[in-house]
Amino acid sequence: MFSMTALPDHTDRKLGLVIDLDTCVGCHACVVSCKGWNTQSQDSPLSDQDPYGADPTGTFLNRVHSFEVTPEQGPPQLVHFPRSCLHCEDAPCVAVCPTGASYKRTEDGIVLVNESDCIGCGLCAWACPYGAREMDAAEGVMKKCTLCVDRIYNDNLPEEDRTPACVRTCPSNARHFGDLGDPESEVSQLVAERGGMDLMPEQGTKPVNKYLPPRPRDAWEGETDVLAPYLEPVAEEPRGLLGWIDRTLGKL
Ligand code: SF4
Ligand code: SF4
Ligand code: SF4
Repeated sequence: MFSMTALPDHTDRKLGLVIDLDTCVGCHACVVSCKGWNTQSQDSPLSDQDPYGADPTGTFLNRVHSFEVTPEQGPPQLVHFPRSCLHCEDAPCVAVCPTGASYKRTEDGIVLVNESDCIGCGLCAWACPYGAREMDAAEGVMKKCTLCVDRIYNDNLPEEDRTPACVRTCPSNARHFGDLGDPESEVSQLVAERGGMDLMPEQGTKPVNKYLPPRPRDAWEGETDVLAPYLEPVAEEPRGLLGWIDRTLGKL
């Protein structure tokens, strides 16, 4: 593919997240802690527009979507799907960047944006098949998950805080952080044991982050699903990332 910004041939480590769709309860604590850390830390704040008005929007580096899924066997269940940058090995968002503002680090594989070189053209957001990039409307620069690069190597923080804010805060321990390039790491072993999935592998982006599939719930005898009548479908014919999630979870 023609590229404007080069990707490294290989990275020494593949730092990323493993997200457990079986235990995520959709509480949004990770969304709030991500926004909090990335607004108060060394980077510029993640802006909001009209936050208390009729049509609020804002910059979030991590979002959670909820779906109702009906497995072939078993009752319908809710699946909560956290979404953030997957730090892809073949990151199309980097390749299309005309200024070199987007880059992937050789030492640990983290994909970052150098905000002072970003011209806000939006090409990277167009190229990312996962919708993982966020244009900050106040500043006109692109932002994205940094894997909390300003926490994980930060000697000024207590050791237990040197992990991404979302991982540190998740009350159900559904988020795990580590080196997915090391087969002996805890995250790699989790992926092997639980059949961790790549998101939309057909896109050829080789995402580093992995998702652990939800397990079907056992039906209780005589159970009625009280929530089902109130849950609207996400879209009549979901397309793109949401369509992929819908089809994939539907097969579980
Ligand atoms: S998820 Fe999107 S923004 Fe993140 S590295 Fe992959 S293509 Fe780029
Ligand atoms: S919006 Fe910024 S980071 Fe994205 S492609 Fe354009 S210059 Fe690069
Ligand atoms: S904090 Fe954990 S349980 Fe809550 S939405 Fe995020 S990943 Fe799911």
